[in-house]
Amino acid sequence: MDLGIKGKKAIVCAGSKGLGFGCAMALAQAGVDLVLNARSEGPLEEAAEQLRACGVSVTTVACDITTEAGQAQVLAAAGPVDILVNNAGGPPPGMWHDWERADFLKALDANMLTPIMMMKAVLPGMMDRGWGRVVNITSQSVKAPIAVLGLSNSARAGLTGYVAGTARQVAGAGVTINNMLPGIHATDRAVALDGGVAQAQGITMAEAKAQRCATIPAGRYGTAQEFGAMCAFLCSQHAGFIVGQNILLDGGGVNATL
Ligand code: NAP
Repeated sequence: MDLGIKGKKAIVCAGSKGLGFGCAMALAQAGVDLVLNARSEGPLEEAAEQLRACGVSVTTVACDITTEAGQAQVLAAAGPVDILVNNAGGPPPGMWHDWERADFLKALDANMLTPIMMMKAVLPGMMDRGWGRVVNITSQSVKAPIAVLGLSNSARAGLTGYVAGTARQVAGAGVTINNMLPGIHATDRAVALDGGVAQAQGITMAEAKAQRCATIPAGRYGTAQEFGAMCAFLCSQHAGFIVGQNILLDGGGVNATL
């Protein structure tokens, strides 16, 4: 399918690895020029090289997207953009009694306020030009809380509320905002989460993974490629009527009718 976005320009935040990279690759394959961000320069440049092989231009910006300075750096390097993919690392696991105010502020900054500030910055230009696509990578924890990820449950719920209201205010100008909710995907983040389970339960990584797979109807972890394909579709010309949705990609893991 021709996604109809060849020649458009996208910012992909936190995109050198994992789900962000999956989104960047799918957009590059659709002919979208990229401004790619992550903190570590080496992996960022390696990712950019792979993406350039698709024939698109890739500008790299090595910075922490959860800081005001990092957001300003990415926005300045990008200039006007048609597509924004918001992403950042997820908060650490723990239990409800572990976190202090400072921990919540850090999670809110990374997983709620950073995407909101990025949207605030790019939405006016998109609306003026009459076309735009924003995709926020959130989590299945928005639909069903994950006990050990209370910081994620909280911060991402806040972002989801903001998107629900804002998406409906900008849709008339040809701009869509949607959220993608990953269940478990085979990325470094999954390795870190499985590592926590293995350590806590005194089991091997393979056992921790098998245990998690048993809770997923699809019986496996998702891939960054599958995730990226959905992102590119949401950013395509065909997705202009999809507004303010929360799209679960979880292999059926969340047991809910709707
Ligand atoms: P990942 O494999 O660990 O990749 C994270 C990417 O983000 C890397 O490119 C990393 O590069 C970059 N990054 C992290 N923090 C950053 C920051 N502050 N500023 C700029 N770049 C940053 O993670 P993932 O699995 O793709 O997860 C992406 C998001 O989806 C996370 O928020 C995660 O919590 C959420 N999620 C993932 C899963 C899953 O199963 N994988 C499930 C639910 C939710 P640098 O380290 O070089 O910055």
